[in-house]
Amino acid sequence: MTAAVIDGKAFAATLRGHVGELARAFETKAGRKAGLAVVLVGEDPASQVYVRSKGKSTLEAGMASFEHKLPVETSEADLLAVVEQLNADPAVDGILVQLPLPSHMDEQKVIATISPDKDVDGFHVINAGRLAVGLPGFVPCTPLGCIMLLKDRLGSLSGLNAVVIGRSNIVGKPMAQLLLSESCTVTIAHSRTKDLPDVVRRADIVVAAVGRAEMVKGDWIKPGATVIDVGINRVPGAEPGKTKLVGDVDYAGAAQVAGAITPVPGGVGPMTIAVLLRNALVAAHRNAGLELAADAI
Ligand code: NDP
Repeated sequence: MTAAVIDGKAFAATLRGHVGELARAFETKAGRKAGLAVVLVGEDPASQVYVRSKGKSTLEAGMASFEHKLPVETSEADLLAVVEQLNADPAVDGILVQLPLPSHMDEQKVIATISPDKDVDGFHVINAGRLAVGLPGFVPCTPLGCIMLLKDRLGSLSGLNAVVIGRSNIVGKPMAQLLLSESCTVTIAHSRTKDLPDVVRRADIVVAAVGRAEMVKGDWIKPGATVIDVGINRVPGAEPGKTKLVGDVDYAGAAQVAGAITPVPGGVGPMTIAVLLRNALVAAHRNAGLELAADAI
């Protein structure tokens, strides 16, 4: 068997186009653009790339982008003051503080300061709680993007066995909650899981969010399973001095067995920013008191 390739790049482009149309309609109705603020502390190169790309995508979707770049020596109190100012700014619908923060800052404290109604990353404990009890709120972008790809591919997920490898607050745990809310039978695996290959072999859906290059092997995959590879790992490339990106799944091996699989790059990665824009648009409607049909995006 050769797996179908789940084209996250194409799906994300369609989603972004749709968000763009709705953002224009929002501007007409609300008399202002939807606004997304991104806060970056320090000069971590990967974070700088993400922030630049988020700002560009926000403008492309017809929304207002507010970038706050603070020096690495910024105090936690000063960062919290910036967040409070954005909480109070009616032009700002969504606030994203790029992680990781410098080590002298308490990430949980910073996240807790973001208004839950502007927490488009879905990391605030209020939004994590809303997800856990099935109330509407903001869901972290990467797992929500994974669920969109899965539903697009499989339709109903009800009754399927899903294994999520990884239990982080930003990917693994919310992913498991979302799969549970789709009535999957969910197993969460992590570094202490015994016989991981056997656990994965039972899965109709495998979501790998580990951060270990090509850890999940082809012979762990149940024939016909759907494999979502969240991992982004930089490894040495074929040419000396060059690197390449690989996922947490041995793509070549898994593609021989799976029914469908996301590639790296071009699978889950592009979905994250598209879903961020979607969450910002939802926030804008809520903040402006405007209706957005539940199935609109
Ligand atoms: P974390 O490092 O926060 O979590 C990794 C998880 O993997 C932990 O729960 C850990 O278990 C588990 N783990 C580590 N080693 C093993 C092992 N040998 N066997 C089983 N489980 C293991 O990572 P994130 O959740 O933040 O990210 C995961 C991956 O997804 C990374 O590659 C990251 O780059 C990528 N990512 C991609 C995004 C995208 O846009 N595509 C967005 C976010 C992340 P334990 O809890 O026991 O330590």
